[in-house]
Amino acid sequence: MKGLITYIQRMSIHDGPGLRSTVFLKGCNLRCKWCHNPETWSNNCQLQYLEEKCIHCFTCINVCENNVFSVNGESLQIDRDKCVLCKKCIENCPSEALTFVGNYVESDEIVSSVLQDKIFYENSNGGITISGGEPSLQKGFTLDILKKCKESDIHTAIETNLLMDRDVLESFFPYVDLWICDLKIMDSEKHKHWTGCSNRVILSNIKTLSSMSAKMLIHTPVIPGVNDSPEDINSICSFLSELPIIPKYELLPYHSLGMMKFANLGMKNLFNHDQFLDKETLKQLNEIVDSYNLNAK
Ligand code: SF4
Ligand code: SF4
Repeated sequence: MKGLITYIQRMSIHDGPGLRSTVFLKGCNLRCKWCHNPETWSNNCQLQYLEEKCIHCFTCINVCENNVFSVNGESLQIDRDKCVLCKKCIENCPSEALTFVGNYVESDEIVSSVLQDKIFYENSNGGITISGGEPSLQKGFTLDILKKCKESDIHTAIETNLLMDRDVLESFFPYVDLWICDLKIMDSEKHKHWTGCSNRVILSNIKTLSSMSAKMLIHTPVIPGVNDSPEDINSICSFLSELPIIPKYELLPYHSLGMMKFANLGMKNLFNHDQFLDKETLKQLNEIVDSYNLNAK
């Protein structure tokens, strides 16, 4: 079965326990304004332009038959709507300033690539993590990888926003050892404002997973000016502390490292601010988390 991915990161230490291979799938059903992986939003391949690598030879203008490129003064203009993804410009660009984001691969290819590192997973209690984007948007592909990894005795984790139908969640359930899920904002209207969608289904799925005794790690990305108030974190902790099985919980401080990706892909960055979370606020929020006796880090 084929699916669309951005890349596979081997030897990852940030996406679950131990050493892992993380597969990033394309396509997401949320639009978090602070997202640092906007290359995973679209469920299509995308043309990426790295201006810092461009030597302004303008070969791309000549090879593209669809008039995607033009020059404005010194700078290259790109009308991505006209692109038919033929790759001619990429093949002819001398400086690798043009690349594609997105690659169709067979699930079997992914599994055999992941299996190459089995010895490292065994020695570190690691495994595979399927991430994105939102893996449930390619549910058949995701399920196929999960099943094949379980058949090969590989620990499986899924990094998901949990915005999925219950039947999809239940189909994944037997093959997922660890659910890594974001819980960004408790207030539904506020969640909709910042992510494009209400959190109703997400909260319901967290409750469902907890009632099924699923092993869960819940993350809150703490974004300055969005969800960094004591009220925000209190309401999340209160919800988690009332679940039938208390999940592991972590606060993840915001960073702005992915913001250049918006420009490279010709996408609008809707979160133009470079505020960082100060240590004092983080300390205060950590104290709130600690006060709930959650399984927290
Ligand atoms: S072909 Fe590559 S290096 Fe030349 S102008 Fe186009 S993007 Fe820049
Ligand atoms: S991929 Fe093809 S259509 Fe798209 S910009 Fe490059 S040459 Fe033009």
